[in-house]
Amino acid sequence: MSKKVLVLGEVRDGALRNVSFEAIAAAKQISDGGEVVAALFGDQVADLAKELIAYGADRALVVEHPHLKFYTSDGYSQALLALIEQEKPEGIVIGHTALGKDLSPKVASRLQAALISDVTEIEGSGDDAVFVRPIYSGKAFEKVKFKEGLVFITVRPNNIAPLEKDAGRTGDVQSVSVDIKNLRTIVKEVVRNASTGVDLSEAKVIVSGGRGVKSAEGFKPLKELADLLGGAVGASRGACDAGYCDYAMQIGQTGKVVTPDLYIACGISGAIQHLAGMSNSKVIVAINKDPEANIFKVADYGIVGDLFEVVPLLIEEIKAL
Ligand code: FAD
Repeated sequence: MSKKVLVLGEVRDGALRNVSFEAIAAAKQISDGGEVVAALFGDQVADLAKELIAYGADRALVVEHPHLKFYTSDGYSQALLALIEQEKPEGIVIGHTALGKDLSPKVASRLQAALISDVTEIEGSGDDAVFVRPIYSGKAFEKVKFKEGLVFITVRPNNIAPLEKDAGRTGDVQSVSVDIKNLRTIVKEVVRNASTGVDLSEAKVIVSGGRGVKSAEGFKPLKELADLLGGAVGASRGACDAGYCDYAMQIGQTGKVVTPDLYIACGISGAIQHLAGMSNSKVIVAINKDPEANIFKVADYGIVGDLFEVVPLLIEEIKAL
């Protein structure tokens, strides 16, 4: 049976995050020919709504308010609850981002709805949809179905392919006014770390360094390689704890979970807690001096060698292409 599904688009630095389009593709599959309605919250974001339609939403609802410029769980949950009340969807899809991880359980529990989080794949569609999600830090996958009633789904970035953009697609964009009140916190400003560059959780290529990189200076060739490949730089907790880089770059169980097309691990031993954050990457290349390093167990390509020799060689070869 076809369903009405609401998708929340996510804006960062004035642009829609890719996971918004991946969420629309997921919503299309769940809706099984029903209606996909995109929602957008923020301050002066209405111009972005058309892009959600170009990626497959049938129409878009925009809630603009100065207090929605930055995410707060109070503000966004009020806006989402108002749209759910207005639209009465059967499914809600949100990216499994910091925002989605905070917002979805809050609103789902308020509505006593089901929540299937961190979905990496959807098999089938409509009532027969089966949601695949990693468990035990990615060591196993479980398949989940929902029975009835409202269900919230969060989709892991970089796993569900977005539909092809069709700039000629048309759909209604409606502005909805919601009285955002009684906020317990208001974010005045977000000060970003200037060094973060490409967003790790959406990067297609990640060059990651561990304790083997030995210093902050040692990360420079990794950054050069990442820049050449249009990617981002990540790190193990070992490297962060040693003060070589910022904790915002940490990948793993207590850091970011990433699924790039290419993950290049340099001087990382492959502790279970690190693998939890990257083992679902599509292609893994490991560079390590120790042929017994655990990282080689998950690597598609392993290079046993000194990263300070191998990384410059890779840079040279890529520049020569
Ligand atoms: P090491 O284990 O010290 O490995 C360094 C590697 O570099 C070695 O394999 C060595 O052979 C290689 N090497 C050295 N020099 C060179 C060279 N010149 N060229 C090539 N290779 C070289 N870790 C995470 O990464 N992410 C997490 O989210 C995380 N969460 C944790 C949560 C908990 C509760 C706990 C207990 C631990 C967590 N850890 C996490 C830590 C984890 O257990 C490891 O300690 C950490 O991942 C090790 O980092 P590393 O691989 O950089 O360092």
